[in-house]
Amino acid sequence: MSLFDFRRTGVVGNKSNDRCLKDKKLLVMAVMLIAFGVMLITATLVSCMSPSAAAMARTVGLGIFSHQPIVMLDAGHGGIDGGAESADGVSEKDINLSISMMVKDILAEYDVKVAMTRTEDKGLYTGVSRDGSADAKIKGKRSVRSLKTEDLTARREMADKLMPDAFVSIHLNSYKENRSVFGAQTFYSNGETEEAGNLSRMLAETIQGNLLLKIDNGNQRVALEKSDVLLLKKTAYPAVIVECGFLSNGNEAAQLQTYDYQRKLAEGVAEGIVKFLKLEKKIEVVKDR
Ligand SMILES: [Zn+2]
Repeated sequence: MSLFDFRRTGVVGNKSNDRCLKDKKLLVMAVMLIAFGVMLITATLVSCMSPSAAAMARTVGLGIFSHQPIVMLDAGHGGIDGGAESADGVSEKDINLSISMMVKDILAEYDVKVAMTRTEDKGLYTGVSRDGSADAKIKGKRSVRSLKTEDLTARREMADKLMPDAFVSIHLNSYKENRSVFGAQTFYSNGETEEAGNLSRMLAETIQGNLLLKIDNGNQRVALEKSDVLLLKKTAYPAVIVECGFLSNGNEAAQLQTYDYQRKLAEGVAEGIVKFLKLEKKIEVVKDR
């Protein structure tokens, strides 16, 4: 017997109408309870998914986490902070910016929002006049070290505020104790949560794998966790630092200054991000004449 049949058979006098009203309320409550149960099971299933499935849900849109993915690119150093230097005095800050801008350009073909921590030769601190120029001046009695700390804190705060789906910082390495050491290497955050840590590792491994595919030079470096730097300490989002090569190695330092080598690195990084976030190419709208 259906619930409607039951209602029809009970329609005699006010008492029956009251009972009918109660039955209706019970029916509505039952439907609401079932709906709540279904929502609860769905939410539990989504939260129990593997990190890769959860990442997919965030970007390909299973409905719950659907949003346009955001990538934050961070060109290391800048302004008064040149970063590592090659034997002939080339500093990493300009190469970092150049590679980061190339990554940005490649990602422009995809349905993704890209944010940059810097787009010019300037640090993220206050109190430096003519920053980025040869006659930059630090106002007041402030050390370069304190400005570097202010700069890194500002980058971290920008990322924490934006909560990107991938935070990728571009740097160059240096190891003067042994100048034969070479090769790009990606480091990842330990994550504020287990999920953020796992996603950081996956992002790093995907980028590292793509870099090795692009640059076939015998580099056998693997992605490693590194949580003793501010940018990678317990992030709530997937975060990595790509050390694109060693400026202390003469051969690699020379290559790092060429457009072709920077482009290969940028392609490796960008393709790693694209694979990790499962990004789709933008659909071009062709207008009728
Ligand atoms: Zn650096």
